[in-house]
Amino acid sequence: MSTLTPTRKPTEAGNNHKPLLVARGVHKFYNKVHAVRGVDFSLLPDRYVTLLGPSGCGKTTILRMIGGFETVSDGVIELDGADLENVPASRRPINTVFQSYALFPHLDVTENVAFGLSLRRLPKAEISAQVTAALRMVHMETMASRRPQELSGGQQQRVALARAIINQPRLLLLDEPLSALDRKMRKEMQIELKDLQRRLGMAFLHVTHDQGEAFALSDWIIVMNNGVIEQQGDPETIYRRPANAYVADFIGGSNLIAGTVTECANGVAVINTAFGRVRTACAPEVAVGRPASLCLRPEVLTLGGDEAIEGTVSHTVFEGSHWLVEATAGGSTLQLRLSDDAPPAVGSSIEVGYDRARAWIVDRTLPVGN
Ligand code: ATP
Repeated sequence: MSTLTPTRKPTEAGNNHKPLLVARGVHKFYNKVHAVRGVDFSLLPDRYVTLLGPSGCGKTTILRMIGGFETVSDGVIELDGADLENVPASRRPINTVFQSYALFPHLDVTENVAFGLSLRRLPKAEISAQVTAALRMVHMETMASRRPQELSGGQQQRVALARAIINQPRLLLLDEPLSALDRKMRKEMQIELKDLQRRLGMAFLHVTHDQGEAFALSDWIIVMNNGVIEQQGDPETIYRRPANAYVADFIGGSNLIAGTVTECANGVAVINTAFGRVRTACAPEVAVGRPASLCLRPEVLTLGGDEAIEGTVSHTVFEGSHWLVEATAGGSTLQLRLSDDAPPAVGSSIEVGYDRARAWIVDRTLPVGN
């Protein structure tokens, strides 16, 4: 095999719906620390999946168990239907890209990328062809003879990626791979990573605490909190239909207006809030008698409208494409995203309404450990 070719064409129908990796009831204890508390998820062979959550929620631990660097305390992780428990890290068709790149400073780019293949004593011509193909994949073919210290952070990360994909793993694990880069470079690398994954048709599992990064990259997002999965789904569902107040708050800023659910049936509930009695779509866990919140994203709030309530502007921030306006209304602090040329003045009275079609009710029971 002399070139890096996609393992499968993402557009090909067929058995790509069969999961590559399945985690079932997985737990991890570090002595008394229960770091991962019974997670279930599966990865399809050609998808970009992100594990998203705050520091300490167990993301890296899950990655390390999949890579074979930590044992699984309970539950099972399967690759192609076979339990990975007794497969050592070096025998798993899985590679990891770390935040720190972990390049050898005394080797040039070619030697760094070729390192694994050289250990396997492959013929020189084959190694050279594979290194060239891998460097081309990450647009680094013109820097093959440089040492790591002669490269920018983004370029070093590209070399680390080339090294990780050269032997065509089935799954690439990426542990906060962009966090050492500045904001502009991070944005560029996000586009490159997604593009690389698409061209390779390989499964990528990426760990981050940055929700913007998760949205930029992912086909599927797994939102974690304190060792459990709070929700998993495509980015749009996670944003528009958060499963609970934790996800609504962690993802994308939300106005969560507490209330009481008085009716609930067939995915629609009625909640009494400062906005009055609101009937709208709700998350599955919402039930009569449980604490709940009306979830209104800043862009769902409007100036005026049928059921508007009175408020006072407390703060305005120009964010480039829009104004973020903060107002106190109905006993809550609300954020509105307005695309108008000028915002209402601080201290002025406004009527705050909302788009009923985009209102959503979530359960407000506190997640485990909080
Ligand atoms: P971060 O984004 O900060 O890396 P994370 O979500 O990846 O966080 P983990 O590194 O998986 O979280 O850690 C989960 C929990 O397990 C934390 O409470 C952490 O302190 C604990 N932990 C992680 N590794 C060990 C270890 N080797 N021994 C003991 N406790 C550990």
